[in-house]
Amino acid sequence: MTYLPSPDRYKNMRYRRCGKSGLKLPAVSLGLWHNFGGVDVAENFRKILHTAFDSGITHFDLANNYGPPPGSAETNFGQILHEDFRGYRDEMIISSKAGYTMWDGPYGDWGSKKYLVSSLDQSLKRMRLEYVDIFYHHRPDPETPLEETMGALDLIVRQGKALYAGISNYPADKADEAISILKKLGTPCLIHQPKYSMFERWVEGGLLDVLEKDGVGCIPFSPLAQGLLTNKYLHGIPEDSRVAKSGVFLQKSHVTDERISQISKLNDIAVKRGQTLAQMALAWILKDQRITSVLIGASKPEQITDSLKCLDNTEFSEEELTQIESILK
Ligand code: NDP
Repeated sequence: MTYLPSPDRYKNMRYRRCGKSGLKLPAVSLGLWHNFGGVDVAENFRKILHTAFDSGITHFDLANNYGPPPGSAETNFGQILHEDFRGYRDEMIISSKAGYTMWDGPYGDWGSKKYLVSSLDQSLKRMRLEYVDIFYHHRPDPETPLEETMGALDLIVRQGKALYAGISNYPADKADEAISILKKLGTPCLIHQPKYSMFERWVEGGLLDVLEKDGVGCIPFSPLAQGLLTNKYLHGIPEDSRVAKSGVFLQKSHVTDERISQISKLNDIAVKRGQTLAQMALAWILKDQRITSVLIGASKPEQITDSLKCLDNTEFSEEELTQIESILK
């Protein structure tokens, strides 16, 4: 059946300016790290993409290695773009990345110009695209000069293979350096993609200040701590959960009694606010205006619908914030 996007798709979403750039991103974006690979169910991930786009989610985040197997999320996304979203490319912001291990030998990992340029060429072929909107260096490379890696991003943008450059997982000092190199090259850094959630607070120790000073946007990944910051694990580990199904990046050992006790107390606050825990956890990140968008994942279309309701209330009272801090301590 032909997919026709909802005519109401822009009604409820909020779009936030990405740093000091001209680009706005939806307050909630969708990542394809899990659930879009060769091992996953095509009809399900197709529906997830439809639900997202119908709800005003215009930004879809990928990377060369997303799957499993690596590359398959881009291939699957490319096919659905081709079949369902063909007339809508100009309404979408699509990102990819390179920086983690992708192929054998010395040119399939880290941060050389050779790796980044070849990897993006492969990603474009898999997604059947002429360009991505944002191309990221996925993680800092301690051995390659930062000038070379940033030079590769600059080259890629000048070649028109990406419209904007981004960095991910860079600590504050490295981010500052990368941002200033890119500025000198004439390709400003659009955005930083760090891990940030109620359970993962490192960005508050300097990174967010650097990004604000330099006018760079911020799109936190795993804002729900891969599903821990939802009501999913309150009563054990469900069969349809990331822990049970994949268990690689989120493992049984992460679901400790102490964590469950924190989750349960946070859930009580969420209920008092009239939100699910997922909604509160996302709202808690979005209360900070330095954040451009929260980058969520979903294994079902209904999770997107649930999570998006975070936008109904992103204000917190002092009392709520203090209670949350005391639980997280
Ligand atoms: P989240 O923290 O949002 O976790 C998503 C998972 O939480 C879902 O797969 C689902 O898990 C569960 N979930 C989501 N919504 C709900 C809900 N409303 N109620 C109950 N459970 C829910 O993000 P991810 O860890 O998936 O990361 C998001 C994106 O960030 C990735 O796709 C990727 O694009 C990016 N990323 C970037 C990285 C980087 O190094 N730059 C690293 C990691 C991610 P379940 O399967 O259990 O249902």
